[in-house]
Amino acid sequence: MATPLTLPGICWPLQASTGHLAVTTSHITGHFRAGAGLDAIIVCDLLPAGKFRNGAARHWCRTHQCYWGTQADLAGWQATQPMRCRQHASPMGYVLYPELFDPMQFHATTLRLGPEGLLQLRARSDDGGTLLARELVALAIDCRALPGLFPHDIVQLNITPPAALALAAALQAGAPLACSDCARCGHPHLDLGSFALAPHRRHSCGHCGHDASHSATAIVSTPLWRLRQRYPQWF
Ligand SMILES: [Zn+2]
Ligand SMILES: [Zn+2]
Ligand SMILES: [Zn+2]
Repeated sequence: MATPLTLPGICWPLQASTGHLAVTTSHITGHFRAGAGLDAIIVCDLLPAGKFRNGAARHWCRTHQCYWGTQADLAGWQATQPMRCRQHASPMGYVLYPELFDPMQFHATTLRLGPEGLLQLRARSDDGGTLLARELVALAIDCRALPGLFPHDIVQLNITPPAALALAAALQAGAPLACSDCARCGHPHLDLGSFALAPHRRHSCGHCGHDASHSATAIVSTPLWRLRQRYPQWF
């Protein structure tokens, strides 16, 4: 296969119960056929993540949101190859060169999920009052302009289609929403799919793989909730 490219981008697994929105880099590395799609092959981003219940060392793949280190993983891994998780060849959703929105440069901002599943962003620039109107598959929020909202190492919050859909579904179902931070790395936790409809206390971190952070009460967690508290007209 050709050498993977590293480009500014947002990617997301097509099936996952957790996600990784609060990223420490604006770039992704993989194989892309176009500027956006549902068929990118993205390289694994594996990091040590404690142990399995049987005591075996475990890694977490931040790209594909799954653990590595089972017997099958070990059997398939030759020490000469880079380690890769069982989802390494699964197609992923992606947008290259995404819109990076800095909320501090705009006012009267609204952000909604449209009927076609696109994010509808409207805002007026503080500098001259021009109207910004965009319909986007995914969007990055510049976090450097939002001190105190997320840990310092987070550069942007990626609003992906599954995250926007999960928030919309949880709001519609009246699920108790909040944002739980990982007890180990401090990154905000995202519940997706059925986890976004079934409030729970024990959360597994999409950034570092720590799987024993507990919220005080049973909640559905999403970092978008924290944005919504600052910007009530979003979602
Ligand atoms: Zn992976
Ligand atoms: Zn959770
Ligand atoms: Zn963590």
